[in-house]
Amino acid sequence: MDENKRIVVVGIPGVGKTTVIKKTVELLKAHDIAVRVNCFGSVMFEVAHQSGIQNRDELRKLPLSQQQSLQRTAAEKLAQINDKITIIDTHAFISSTEGYYPGLPEPVLRIIKPTNFISVSAKPENIYNRRMNDMTRNRDLITLEDIKRDLNVQSAMISACAVITGAPVKFLLNVEGKVDEAADAIVRMLEV
Ligand code: ATP
Ligand code: MG
Repeated sequence: MDENKRIVVVGIPGVGKTTVIKKTVELLKAHDIAVRVNCFGSVMFEVAHQSGIQNRDELRKLPLSQQQSLQRTAAEKLAQINDKITIIDTHAFISSTEGYYPGLPEPVLRIIKPTNFISVSAKPENIYNRRMNDMTRNRDLITLEDIKRDLNVQSAMISACAVITGAPVKFLLNVEGKVDEAADAIVRMLEV
């Protein structure tokens, strides 16, 4: 691998991004490959916390202009990382009152310069249950139909990112009970 990899992983809430990334890191570490993971939302929250935001699930309810500015500041922080492999855990879009807002608008892509995108998907019923069973988060209430529509929007948003940057997108299915297989597919994709 001759260039640093900046891998941006997207997926709608509850699809299992953080779980699959955690497993991927375990596999890479077992091969002695250093990798750093950054959750875009957490970096944004760190910045927002300094101006009084108390909970990360409040971020998506802020006025859009404020979210845009936090996004750019977070992107600048992430761009400073110069590791061999950086994985960025984020969303292709955020549902706002004004409609779908891109998680990776062009200014953010220009700052981060991703080398790869991974779009994590799962069966809508699995996503629904994963959200309902995960009590550690303040998740929005949603129907199965909303999840299906959101998966379509995810594909459209990440395809636009590929066109803007020229970086490829891998579509990854996170099958119920098969986190290991999803993580293994990422390791194989990295050719490390
Ligand atoms: P968010 O965008 O809100 O951070 P996420 O995509 O990171 O969500 P996770 O927190 O990784 O989602 O997973 C949500 C829930 O689904 C967790 O309880 C996790 O254990 C479970 N989960 C993830 N992947 C699988 C899988 N393949 N099979 C069964 N359960 C899974
Ligand atoms: Mg997560």
